[in-house]
Amino acid sequence: MRQVIIIGSGPAGFTAAIYAARANLQPLLIASSVEVGGELMNTTEVENYPGFPEGIQGPDLMAKFQEQAERFGTEVLYDDVTSLDFDGPVKSVTLGSGATHEAHTVIYATGSAYRKLGVEGEERLSGHGVSWCATCDGFFFREKTIAVVGGGDSAMEEATFLTRFASKVYVIHRKDALRASKIMQERAFANEKIEFVWNSVVEEILGENETTGVRLRNTVDDTVSELPLEGLFVAIGNDPRTHLVHDKLDLTPEGTIWVDGRSSRTSVPGVFAAGDVIDPTYRQAITAAGSGTVAALDAEHFLADIADTSVEKPAAESAEVITA
Ligand SMILES: Cc1cc2nc3c(=O)[nH]c(=O)nc-3n(C[C@H](O)[C@H](O)[C@H](O)COP(=O)(O)OP(=O)(O)OC[C@H]3O[C@@H](n4cnc5c(N)ncnc54)[C@H](O)[C@@H]3O)c2cc1C
Repeated sequence: MRQVIIIGSGPAGFTAAIYAARANLQPLLIASSVEVGGELMNTTEVENYPGFPEGIQGPDLMAKFQEQAERFGTEVLYDDVTSLDFDGPVKSVTLGSGATHEAHTVIYATGSAYRKLGVEGEERLSGHGVSWCATCDGFFFREKTIAVVGGGDSAMEEATFLTRFASKVYVIHRKDALRASKIMQERAFANEKIEFVWNSVVEEILGENETTGVRLRNTVDDTVSELPLEGLFVAIGNDPRTHLVHDKLDLTPEGTIWVDGRSSRTSVPGVFAAGDVIDPTYRQAITAAGSGTVAALDAEHFLADIADTSVEKPAAESAEVITA
C-alpha cells in the first residue's frame, strides 16, 4: 500500500512528486506510456519559466523536473491509468498492463488537451509557427503576419493579445458571425491590426520546416485560396482530461475538476487534483507546478490527519487505514 499515487507527468505531477518525495512519502508516479513529460514535450523554447533566463527547450525542462523528482525517491511507471476506484479509504489505480496499485491518497494531474484542427501540416509545424498558446509563444512573433483560428472568447483574447507583437493578425472563422461575447468582439473589431477572414476553414498548414501560410476553403462557395503567414494560433477550445473521473469526482461547468477553494481537495476525501485539469483560466507550466505543490501539501496533511485518527482509535478499527 502506497501513501500517495500521482497520475500525470507534467509540471503539476512532477512538482507534486518532488514535494511528496521530500516529505518521505515515497510516491509512485504514473507517467503515461506515450506523453511522458506532458504538454511541454510538444514545444521548443520555453522563455517564461523562472530560473532559466536564457530559456530552455520544453523537453529539457521536463527532464529536469523528472530528475529532481527521482532524486528524492519518486518511483516512475511508464504506463497509462485505465480505471480508478475511489470508494472507501483505500484508492485503487489500475494500469494498462493490468496491474493495480493501492494508496491512501491520489493526486490527479492529467492536464488538458488543446483541440487540434486535424489538418495536414499541423503536427509537423507545431513549435515551428503553429501554436495553441498566445501567452506562451506570442513573443516569438514580433513584426510577423500571423492568424488565429476560432470565433470564441479565447480566440478574440488571443488575437487582441497577439497584436502587441505581430504586425498583422488575421482571424479565420468558419462562419460569418462570432460566438465571442459582445465586449470581446468589439475590442477585436476596433483593433486596426486585426482583419477577419469569414466563412473559412483551414484545410492545410503550409511549410516544410517553418509555417509559410494556410490553404483555406470557403464554407459558402467551396473556393480554395492560400493565405501567406508566418504563424498560426489554434484557439478552438481546450478539453480537461477528466474521462476517467467523470462519474467519480465533481466537475465545474467549464469541465475542469472541482476543487475546494484554493486547495486541491476534490469532492472525494483523499483524492487531490492539480494543474491544467483544474484550471480553466491560466494553464501555464508555472501555475501547474504551483498547483502540484498545493496537492502534495494537502495530501501530506490528509495523511497526517488519518494517522492521528488511527492512533486515537482502537487498533482493530484503524488497521486498514494506517498500513503503509
Ligand atoms: C505547444 C504548447 C506550448 C506551451 N508553451 C508553454 C510555455 O512556453 N510556457 C508555459 O508556462 N506553458 C506553456 N504551455 C502550457 C503548459 O504546457 C501547460 O500549462 C502545462 O504543461 C500543464 O501542466 P500539467 O502538469 O497540468 O499537465 P500536462 O503537462 O498536460 O501533463 C499531464 C500529463 O498527464 C498524463 N496523463 C493523462 N492521462 C493519463 C492517464 N490516464 N494515465 C497516465 N498519465 C496520464 C499526460 O500524458 C501528461 O503527461 C504550452 C502548452 C502547449 C500545448
